[in-house]
Amino acid sequence: MGRRRITRLPDHLNVEPHLCFAIEHGVRGSLQDHRPRDLPWRLIEVKSTTRVKQQHLTDVAIQAHVLERAGLRVRHVEIMHLNSDCTYPSLHELFVRKVVTKEIAAIRPRLPRIVKRQLRMLRGDMPDAKRGPHCDSPYECPFQERCFGPVSEHHVTTLYRSGELALELLERGVEEISDIDEPLDGVIAERQRRAVQSGELIVEGDLAAALEPFASPVAFLDFETVGLAIPMWTGCSPYQAVPVQMVISFATRGQRQAEGRPPCSVKRAVDVDIL
Ligand code: SF4
Repeated sequence: MGRRRITRLPDHLNVEPHLCFAIEHGVRGSLQDHRPRDLPWRLIEVKSTTRVKQQHLTDVAIQAHVLERAGLRVRHVEIMHLNSDCTYPSLHELFVRKVVTKEIAAIRPRLPRIVKRQLRMLRGDMPDAKRGPHCDSPYECPFQERCFGPVSEHHVTTLYRSGELALELLERGVEEISDIDEPLDGVIAERQRRAVQSGELIVEGDLAAALEPFASPVAFLDFETVGLAIPMWTGCSPYQAVPVQMVISFATRGQRQAEGRPPCSVKRAVDVDIL
């Protein structure tokens, strides 16, 4: 028999007056609303994304389930998320809400079985798990190093845009780029394979001729961006990429190669004044 508990936070904490936590069968649910406890409750789950994702529905279904089992009548469920159409300084519509009551009702009958299975898994021995898409989606699993240990410098997951390619190779028992025994489809990944296997730097095409029209010194401009959930600069919306620092690298023809060093030498970082 699981524990049933509704905990109301003390008023002096100055948070939402009806912020509650409930624990049922070892799973915690939480709820925020302004209704007295004897009326039906509205559960609002706040997410930092700009849309509702499938995993949010399972998450909020668990919370609705726990709260119902703990004695609250949850009759209405919403997911609140950031509004990508909202721009600073008009933040009055920073969040939008989507009603998901029906979706949650469809998920709930399956939950007791899922919860039981998950709790059994947590109590059990370390599973003999294989690396797969589930290790990175919908979130990057924090246990990757525990399950698979640190990866070597030329592990197949270090291949350019490895994704499914690395998973296919691992499925076939190929862990290292040096053990790949056939050409790869992607041009860059294939060049990487040949470079690792030969131990040589590979430059393809006539790079010298392509660089000939550029007079020395050559400047390369790069910039770094930030994407804030809550915008703070005029015209910016949630997570919009905003340049905040520019880096200029200069390469002087021949000079550094003669010194046996890579061609790009001088770097100057410039903070961008956004105000
Ligand atoms: S890394 Fe995470 S998702 Fe992948 S097998 Fe291990 S525990 Fe499972």
